[in-house]
Amino acid sequence: MALSKLLGALCAATVLSSAAYAEGYPDRQITMVVPFSAGGPTDTVARLVAERMSADLGQQIIVENVGGAGGTLGAGQVADAEADGYTILLHHIGMATSATLYRNLAYDPLGFEYVGLVTEVPMVVVARKDLEPTDFASFIEYVKANKDTVTMANAGIGAASHLCGMLFQSAIDTQFVTVPYKGTGPAMTDLLGGQVDFMCDQTTNTTQQIQGGTIKAYAATTPERLSIFPDLPTVAEGGLAQMEVAIWHGIYAPKGTPAEATERLSAALQMALADEGVIKAMADLGTAPSPAADATPAALKAKLESEIARWKPIIEAAGVYAD
Ligand code: ASP
Repeated sequence: MALSKLLGALCAATVLSSAAYAEGYPDRQITMVVPFSAGGPTDTVARLVAERMSADLGQQIIVENVGGAGGTLGAGQVADAEADGYTILLHHIGMATSATLYRNLAYDPLGFEYVGLVTEVPMVVVARKDLEPTDFASFIEYVKANKDTVTMANAGIGAASHLCGMLFQSAIDTQFVTVPYKGTGPAMTDLLGGQVDFMCDQTTNTTQQIQGGTIKAYAATTPERLSIFPDLPTVAEGGLAQMEVAIWHGIYAPKGTPAEATERLSAALQMALADEGVIKAMADLGTAPSPAADATPAALKAKLESEIARWKPIIEAAGVYAD
């Protein structure tokens, strides 16, 4: 066969197989890796959208928690997974910050395919219920005065709770003791038990405890007060505007995953984010779905690129790194 004919035949086969792939996808269960512990804020968001996406896809998305190393273990696992559309990753802002925080990351944070943005979640500075300070101003003074003994929980370098803590340390120019967990799910258990003093965590993990009075809240990291906690001051009201941060989440797939799969997943994500039940569940947890236009591969790619550039100088100024 002449070379041109052979190439033509190969091209036709590729077109055919990708069309067949698109039609048949997904024909089995999909694994969504969450790079933090079960029961934590990322897990909560993942399970909410995975359930609704499963209904649209006609195949189950099961959530697998791969916690550790601030989310980089789970992300690395997905980077190495088969690029067939059956393994995906739901990660947050840590995808961008870990690009600078880690000197020897085993994967390239920009080396994934993109599905879309999911939600942006505010954070709240919370403490064990019996921690002395009664407001944010006295809390700041307390942390400064007790920096060698007070303990802040986080989910490891690269986690949102770590980022917020790093911003807090810079803003008050005080280094205090931090205690890493595989996720803020288990960190919350220790906060409730009084084994750690405070943390900064997403409303998807703190709202019910604050409402139930089992932990104390000092400030929200949003520019405006949260509608679910109108009495809670913002960090800027406490003089620490540098701590403002919102934890955006996205869904990724291994490099080389066919566009037919990422586009199908993006369509399912848009359906999920428009679902009344999902909107209500998110609202109850102090957040909201990303707009449909952002639940797309292009929007997530642009967001990740801009966020890597945004956080790089801030992390470099703080001088925090992991190997
Ligand atoms: N999102 C993490 C978790 O689900 C916590 C964090 O990033 O701080 O545990």
